[in-house]
Amino acid sequence: MSIRSPFVVVMGHVDVGKTLLLDKIRGTSVAYREPGMITQHIGVSFVPWQAVERFAGPLVDKLRLRGKIWIPGFLFIDTPGHAAFSNLRRRGGSVADLAILVVDITSGLEEQGVESLKLIQSRGVPFIIAANKLDRIYGWKSVENRPFLFAVEQQEWHAIATLEEAIGKLIDQLSRFGIEADRYDRVRDFSKQVPIVPTSAVTGEGIADLLLVLAGVSQRFIPREKLSVSYGPAKGVVMEVKEERGLGVVADVILYDGVLKKGDVIITAGIDGPKETKVRMLIMPKPLDEMRDPEDRYMAVEEVKAAAGVRIVADGLDGVVAGAPIFAVWDLQDIQKVVQLVREEISEIKIETDREGVIARADTFGTLESMVLFLRQQGVPIRRADVGPPTHKDVVEAVLSRRKNPTYGVILAFNVKIPPEVEREAMSSGIKIIRGEILYRIFDEYIKWSQEVKT
Ligand code: GDP
Ligand code: MG
Repeated sequence: MSIRSPFVVVMGHVDVGKTLLLDKIRGTSVAYREPGMITQHIGVSFVPWQAVERFAGPLVDKLRLRGKIWIPGFLFIDTPGHAAFSNLRRRGGSVADLAILVVDITSGLEEQGVESLKLIQSRGVPFIIAANKLDRIYGWKSVENRPFLFAVEQQEWHAIATLEEAIGKLIDQLSRFGIEADRYDRVRDFSKQVPIVPTSAVTGEGIADLLLVLAGVSQRFIPREKLSVSYGPAKGVVMEVKEERGLGVVADVILYDGVLKKGDVIITAGIDGPKETKVRMLIMPKPLDEMRDPEDRYMAVEEVKAAAGVRIVADGLDGVVAGAPIFAVWDLQDIQKVVQLVREEISEIKIETDREGVIARADTFGTLESMVLFLRQQGVPIRRADVGPPTHKDVVEAVLSRRKNPTYGVILAFNVKIPPEVEREAMSSGIKIIRGEILYRIFDEYIKWSQEVKT
């Protein structure tokens, strides 16, 4: 048994600086790591704690964290966004151990920031807030990479006043969503208050503070069992399935427990249920020091230990859906047991009943699960939920469901295209289709429509 690094996701409204913040954090790990250390995985960046300690030294001492951190580092998920977060699912929660909700300090919490917040909360993931674009506070004097706590001591009163006003506004906004928050150095009780860390992804100010707060919160709020990894068959989740030249269809996977070896039997899932195959090749990026030719960035490895992001090459991966669990089997007598486990997990996401309710469609297991969780929270009954574009059968089911209640004559389609023949059929049967890329917009439109139908 050993302790792995927590997985961290970055979430927030468009243009708040998620990508730049991730770049800055990755840059820290590259500049301050030990030579030869592997910091790049597939879809994940590793920031070792030693690198953070070197980068943030004086702040580590000021906050009295030296010698107190037992997590090996952080694994940042490279793709921010709702879909990636939804696909990081595992039974009963998320593969993400922690989230950073990024807001623009000059504009506060915006629409997709609120949505990120709801998604994070629906999966029960602890989070902190980065109040980014600190350098845009009027009159703020920047010094590259300076910790926020040191920077704030060196500012003129009017810059401090502007900053305080912005943070106060953000705290007010958050309180409307039942969240108690405060500037991180004023938080008295981290179990009740969410820390706000002012950052600048442009100047690097506050990045040190962000990483240290993340470490503290990791150690206090992530259940230790969740970070314990054992030597055993790998457990993970499929993040993406794609065609790679020369390799065929590959799966990019996040492993959160165990060890995955070349030749392992793996069980994962497609729309129609569990799929069994065998690992033909495991691919990881080369360590930065060994990467000479940018065309030649990857290497094949014999095994990968969790926690990690890895690309799997295997036959029959086409049709595997993002958000599907992926479990390795070492003892072949266990295959049927694991297949059954995957089947049960999938049937909790895909719903097929004869109760009345709406029809739900989404592009992956992850987004479908988010949708089902959300509709349940809002008290909307579901008759049928499935992955992929709506079909003829959905229209038929919606017609049946409508007999009981006219507001159930609807197909909610999240991130999927509507085939023209289904569109026509729905139209002629009077079934409403609400399609979109944002869950909460689909829901709002549904509420609006159902009120019209009722009157
Ligand atoms: P994302 O959509 O959240 O990934 O945002 P990006 O990282 O792409 O940043 C959006 C824009 O904001 C870009 O033009 C960035 O250069 C800018 N930006 C991001 N972070 C900061 C920051 O801390 N300060 C300033 N001044 N600009 C920033
Ligand atoms: Mg971005």
